[in-house]
Amino acid sequence: MEFQNTREFAQQLDAKDKLAKYRDEFIFPHVNGKQVIYFTGNSLGLQPKRTKAYVDEVMDDWAKLAVEGHFYAEKPWWDYHERFAGPLSKIVGALPTEVTVMNTLTVNLHLLMVTFYRPTARRYKIICEEKAFPSDQYMLKSQVKFHGFDPDDAIVEIKRREGEHNIRTEDVLAKIKEVGDELALVLMGGVNYYTGQVFDIKTITKAGQDVGAYVGWDLAHAAGNIKLELHEWNVDFAAWCSYKYMNSGPGNASGAFVHEMHHNDMDLPRFAGWWGHNKERRFLMEPAFDPVRGANGWQVSNLPILSLAPYLASVEMFDEVGMTALIAKRDLITAYLEFILHEIDKEVDSTFEIITPPNPEERACQLSVFLHGEGRALFEYLMKNGVIVDWREPNVIRLAPVPFYCSFEDMYEFGQILKQGIVSHKK
Ligand SMILES: *Cc1c(COP(=O)(O)O)cnc(C)c1O
Repeated sequence: MEFQNTREFAQQLDAKDKLAKYRDEFIFPHVNGKQVIYFTGNSLGLQPKRTKAYVDEVMDDWAKLAVEGHFYAEKPWWDYHERFAGPLSKIVGALPTEVTVMNTLTVNLHLLMVTFYRPTARRYKIICEEKAFPSDQYMLKSQVKFHGFDPDDAIVEIKRREGEHNIRTEDVLAKIKEVGDELALVLMGGVNYYTGQVFDIKTITKAGQDVGAYVGWDLAHAAGNIKLELHEWNVDFAAWCSYKYMNSGPGNASGAFVHEMHHNDMDLPRFAGWWGHNKERRFLMEPAFDPVRGANGWQVSNLPILSLAPYLASVEMFDEVGMTALIAKRDLITAYLEFILHEIDKEVDSTFEIITPPNPEERACQLSVFLHGEGRALFEYLMKNGVIVDWREPNVIRLAPVPFYCSFEDMYEFGQILKQGIVSHKK
């Protein structure tokens, strides 16, 4: 498609957009009395209008039923989480028994590492990507130290090549081979939070398993954003947060995946709690732990229903729309944003550089832009003018044109504000 940098063209794309009506299902903040252009759905998704009713329902049930709500609420609390199995398994490409909701992301990765990182004197190394999200770096280091190893020796980072912004799959595969039978675990982000690079989860998973390691994924920036086939790809385990692309609210509950092949392996250790115990016998309060055969068997505590309520609203919206439609719009709107950025760059003779891979197979809903000249002042100009973006040191803004609620006209409008900002800072 031949794009044009005009409002009319952007409006034509909106008129053809089958998801356009969903924009009205979200609540946008306002700046200067105008609805913002929201590019930070990769950090905290907007609130869907229908979410409040899900939360109110729990509040009302609690008021009317108190403890009886566990069994007699409209959506009983004791197995409330089972409502996620259908929609969530479709979002991540899993069997319903392979997904669960619980805790928060870093906590879940720690719990899953109890099962899948059991280093021995010979096999103790972990491969991750360079510049992984800080929480993941802290987590990996603390796990390695907990097991008595030295992080500098045990954690192997895949580096970018000199002068390149992204990691090559061939370099990941070569490193996996090199570490070989010392490799206990590969644990990477499915989509890099900083550059937006999408990793080849299927190929990397197979390579890790071929040398005898477990392979797990942090899908914080992937769930609800990219096509996932976790079951087919034979991923051992994964976890994600729900407040980024999945719009469930600040700090909200995480989702986790454990592949079916591990469900009946009772030799795998785990940290247990009563909510992971055999559902039919949970309230018999028996002394011996008998885990649920499925991802729910990794649950520990009874679930925070007030935080699951907004998450349930979210997964039901995803179920209504489907990942296929979201991905189709994602690719078009991201390409349009990329076009707008290049046009503005030409018009004002600027020097910014998109560090996200240009190949649509290697990116999703995010363009990270290195602002060589303009920097922080331009970021602040955008924020003051109702464009919500985020800033990452040393000089990067990240733009996520979330397909659920961003419009093509937003992209055009953003380009105009950006141009104004660059021109006014050059003076
Ligand atoms: C957002 C994000 C996190 C956040 O972890 P929490 O435990 O939810 O605070 C972790 N890892 C990655 C890769 C992220 O993008």
